[in-house]
Order: sequence, then C-alpha cells, then structure tokens
Amino acid sequence: MAFGVEQAKRWMSIANDHIQQQKQYLTELDQAIGDGDHGLNMARGFQEVVEKIASANYEDLGSLFKDISMTLIAKVGGASGPLYGTAFLRMSLALAGKKEADDKELIAALEAALDGIKARGKANVGEKTMVDVWEPVMEFLREKESLQVKEAALLAKEKMEHTKELEAKKGRAAYLGKRSVGHIDPGSASSHLLFAALAEALEG
Ligand code: ADP
Ligand code: MG
Repeated sequence: MAFGVEQAKRWMSIANDHIQQQKQYLTELDQAIGDGDHGLNMARGFQEVVEKIASANYEDLGSLFKDISMTLIAKVGGASGPLYGTAFLRMSLALAGKKEADDKELIAALEAALDGIKARGKANVGEKTMVDVWEPVMEFLREKESLQVKEAALLAKEKMEHTKELEAKKGRAAYLGKRSVGHIDPGSASSHLLFAALAEALEG
C-alpha cells in the first residue's frame, strides 16, 4: 500500500476531524485524572497542523512530518505536546528523502515514533499512558509485517479501554495513585484516534 504525501496529509486531516469531534470527551477524561487540558491541547495543535500542511508542497515525507512535529511541539503543550512532537520528529527522520513509504517503511517509522515516545517519557507498558496503546499496536504490526491498519485500530481501541484497569505511574495522573483506576487514560484515547484515522486514511 503506497503511503505518500497525499495519504499522510489525509491522515492528519482525518485525525484532526476526530480530535475536534472528541475534544469534549478528551477533556472529560483529563478532568477525571489530570488537569482537563488534553482536549483543548490536541484540538489546538491538530487544527494548526492541518492549516500548516494544507498550503505547503512537500518533496518528501520527511519534510512533511518535520512540519507536523514542529507544530505539535509549539502548539499542543502539556506532557503530550513534546511526546507527540517527538513521535512525529522520529517519523520524519525515518522517512527523510522518501516520496513514498511501503508497508515495511511506514511500520519502521511508526516504530521509531514509539521509541521516541518512550525515550522522552520513560514510560513502559502498564503505567497507564499512551504507551499502553502504542506498544501493543506496534507489536502487532511488527509481527504482521504488513499494514493491517483496521485490525491495528481495533487493537488500539481495546488497549485504550484496558487503561481503565491500570493505576497511573507516569504523568500527572500518577499523583492520584489508586484513585486513577477506573478511568481511561486521555493520551491513550487520543492515540487511539490517531490509529483510527490512519486506518481510514489508508483504507477509506
Ligand atoms: P498534562 O498531563 O501535562 O496536562 P496532557 O493532558 O496534554 O498533559 O497529556 C496527558 C497524557 O500524556 C496522559 O494521558 C498520558 O497518556 C500522556 N503522558 C503523560 N506522561 C507520560 C509519559 N511519561 N510517557 C508517556 N505518556 C505520558
Ligand atoms: Mg492535561
């Protein structure tokens, strides 16, 4: 499946639509175990991303993802801004000079994004963060060696829901300790939206 600049732009556009629609939901999740800014942060950042990339022409995927990364770092804020910013920066490095990525290359770039999130946030699976969505999804894609994006998006949803059972060990929610149990992690929810948007962008 060819993933070029057009597909990447469509991914961001669909992601933005989902985030704008789910802004209130993301806010409510973050109000329960954080400070309530995740919906606003993500909505502001992704709106800026689509505006920034819409008018620009990109020679390669690397330069497109670089712009996405820089915009997220500048506009999202909170913990998630630098984390998503790092994720997309690692993707841009992995895709530098490529006009199109095949399945293996895109999976490798997403893998690099996960590595970036983990390098930046030092979270592991089970600590109730976005890593609880990213890591199992990447394990699945790595094993398949093909972009089974619909299955990946379903897995992302399942893993997002599973964060409800977990006690937060990283980020703001960790201050709540056991009281964080029973709530979905907001960053897992926004990460699920990103994978759902990728599936829609690639499979229509
Ligand atoms: P803040 O907590 O600074 O208000 P946001 O509300 O924008 O930031 O984002 C919170 C989300 O960021 C959490 O739900 C979690 O998924 C993610 N997060 C926080 N800390 C980490 C970390 N160390 N590693 C990975 N993800 C993290
Ligand atoms: Mg917050």
